[in-house]
Amino acid sequence: MIAEIVATGEELRLGSVVDTNSAYIARELTDLGIHVTRHSCVGDDMDTLVSLFIEISNRADVAVVTGGLGPTEDDLTAAAAATAAGVELKLDLRALEAIENFFKARKRSMPSSNRKQAMLPKGAECIINPIGTAPAFLMKMGRCRFFFLPGAPLEVKRIMSDVILPKIADLWGKDRSVFLTKTLCVFGITEAETGERLEAVGGKFPGVRVGLRAVFPIIQIKLYAKGTDDTALQRQLEDASGWVLNKFGNKVFSVDGNAMEVEIGNLLRQNKATLGVAESCTGGLISDWITNVSGSSDYFLLSAVTYSNDAKVRILGVSADTIEKYGAVHEETAKQMAAGVRRISGATYGLSTSGIAGPTGGTPEKPVGTVCIGLATPEGVRGMQYNFPYQERWRNKSIFAITALDLLRRELLMKQDKVHIS
Ligand code: ATP
Ligand code: MG
Repeated sequence: MIAEIVATGEELRLGSVVDTNSAYIARELTDLGIHVTRHSCVGDDMDTLVSLFIEISNRADVAVVTGGLGPTEDDLTAAAAATAAGVELKLDLRALEAIENFFKARKRSMPSSNRKQAMLPKGAECIINPIGTAPAFLMKMGRCRFFFLPGAPLEVKRIMSDVILPKIADLWGKDRSVFLTKTLCVFGITEAETGERLEAVGGKFPGVRVGLRAVFPIIQIKLYAKGTDDTALQRQLEDASGWVLNKFGNKVFSVDGNAMEVEIGNLLRQNKATLGVAESCTGGLISDWITNVSGSSDYFLLSAVTYSNDAKVRILGVSADTIEKYGAVHEETAKQMAAGVRRISGATYGLSTSGIAGPTGGTPEKPVGTVCIGLATPEGVRGMQYNFPYQERWRNKSIFAITALDLLRRELLMKQDKVHIS
């Protein structure tokens, strides 16, 4: 099954907005095992849109188009789709009702211009948009099923995951039997080594295909199984996933495709534990990630971005002598930072970072990419030093942050094992 993706809008064509929709859609379709052959980006121009839709209708099986379903003059997608298909635009009563309800629910009156959004090509199937006014729709043109979605990325994600992806998976399933995927996330190993360790999967599990996706600083291992027997495939996927888990051990931090901060949240909750964080070089990144998880207030108590030495001393109680003697980037300083934030937050765990994110500020003894991480637990406090080879600041900040979280994850897992054993 061949898929194409189209992004529409002047702001995208001119580069003032970056097209994130197409990247997201491509990833999701690829995860389903669908071959995405082409991305196109066109402005708000009727002729270009019409001719592109006609081309695609002759060469792809599925097309996902985003943007241009709004109420204004420059929103041309529905009209272009109708022209390309050789049909009229027609008022869709379900779409109209959904738009009216959208405004009613927000206690606003519906501007008359929004009625335009309920005008869909004749024969199109309306897909209700639960978080915006523009309804999505689906129509067949030539050999291709077109899915038209609004442009706002949040709406795209919602409609894709609620409706479009299940529909496409279903189509694909009819074409090519059942298709299942599983994602394991690993950290602390290179992409090349991950690939080498996975080489045997194909031989051991003939029905399972493996894909790797490096999303710095982690690697996702995707297992795909295709066949006719759902239960057998599920079992194969579980077996293969068990085998991968065995091969990578503790380096696997999620078997559900979850981000590190989600797994940390789950572990803290399971352990009925709480966390306080003192960040220097990561500048709040750890705290940002942790609080991106809904419900993190259950376990996240306090964050201190103590960037200056003075802040480390005055707020966290790090000894000025320690900093004087060893410097801010040192295991001893990191230990005192972790112990300090654990004390002032009253949390079960205190986690700290102090390092050199670069690209400036490195020395021969402490080059760019050096980080010291402290972890204070009810049993004691540890400080570790790591050295990463990166020069870019964003890479260092994110690998420092995830290394700190990984240290905490291992601690929490160890504790759980002990509980299980006892
Ligand atoms: P509406 O105008 O009713 O929100 P629409 O279907 O007309 O819906 P657009 O006007 O094209 O959507 O886009 C809505 C918003 O989403 C704009 O801020 C636009 O810049 C942004 N957007 C549109 N397409 C993309 C894209 N491919 N990637 C990222 N952002 C996008
Ligand atoms: Mg618009």
